[in-house]
Amino acid sequence: MRFLRARLRAPWVGAHDSVGVRPLALVSVETADGHMGYGEAAPLESYDGVRIDDVRAALEDCRAPLSDSDGADSDREHLLERCRKVAVLPQAVAAIDLALWDLAGRRARAPVWQLLGAAAPAPDIEVNATIAAADRAGAAREAAAAVAAGFSVIKVKVGLGDDAGRVAAVRAAAGPTIAIRLDANGAWTVAEAGAALDALAPAGIELCEEPVRGVGELSEVAALTDLALAIDETAAEPGAFDRRLCAAACLKIARCGGISGTLDAARRARAAGYEVYLASTLDGPLGIAAALHAAAAIRPDLPSGLATLDHFEGRPDPLALSRAGHMRPPAGAGLGEGLLSWYGLDAR
Ligand SMILES: [Mg+2]
Repeated sequence: MRFLRARLRAPWVGAHDSVGVRPLALVSVETADGHMGYGEAAPLESYDGVRIDDVRAALEDCRAPLSDSDGADSDREHLLERCRKVAVLPQAVAAIDLALWDLAGRRARAPVWQLLGAAAPAPDIEVNATIAAADRAGAAREAAAAVAAGFSVIKVKVGLGDDAGRVAAVRAAAGPTIAIRLDANGAWTVAEAGAALDALAPAGIELCEEPVRGVGELSEVAALTDLALAIDETAAEPGAFDRRLCAAACLKIARCGGISGTLDAARRARAAGYEVYLASTLDGPLGIAAALHAAAAIRPDLPSGLATLDHFEGRPDPLALSRAGHMRPPAGAGLGEGLLSWYGLDAR
């Protein structure tokens, strides 16, 4: 287990916080016969309330079940269940889950998407760009760059002041055909959400993620607006998938407890009637790769928020777009080759 603090090129501004340095935990598992697997824990305190030190303690608790295991693929589900019981935090379980999938893939000399039963070839997954800037001019610059890079969906954080000004600046810079996705990170009350969405809708909005926090509040806002809504943080709440609260659900590797948990959440969300897509919580490349492997099996209904690696400073992005506005699971066995140098480890 090792920890790193990855610096962002510019502060990542949301309704609740501004992230300048992103702590991550890198986890490796090794079998008696020398096979290795790598995973990553990506808690984001301002988003999910989980501190990296909590994850460290939870991962320590996983040492005993892991060292009891012989590392056989047939033991993976059982082992993961034992880790879920002791670690509890999905962000820690995700790190173990990723490492075990990576290990299984490397041992089988197959990419994880193949182990998940996705049809070959690995698909291109459509992804959105995310505007990090909190000011109009910066947002317009980033929107123009996103369009030039070939994105057709741009996500704008809202609930942080001057939302109408920034959304208008993004629309003007991006042109009329680009989809604009909003994310309020639950910053609004029901009444504020209703008013804000009425005001922003004329700019042409694809959907708004997490306008308010909570199952009950989401239902109320959905009844107030014709705009498509998505649950993100609220997807972690009990009852979120019991019935369809709104159009879509955003799923995250860290919050869902890894690839296995994300596949399960996608099944439950779709059974309730949601469209689904995936997103990162400013994950490193192991987390992003895991989401791309999962997406190959899930086939998201909407563009996913996985193009976030280029927001980091001084760490070349090993998962560049496969074509305009799309990403693909990396080549190689397990979670993929060439991901570890980002963390300061030798590339494998
Ligand atoms: Mg979100």
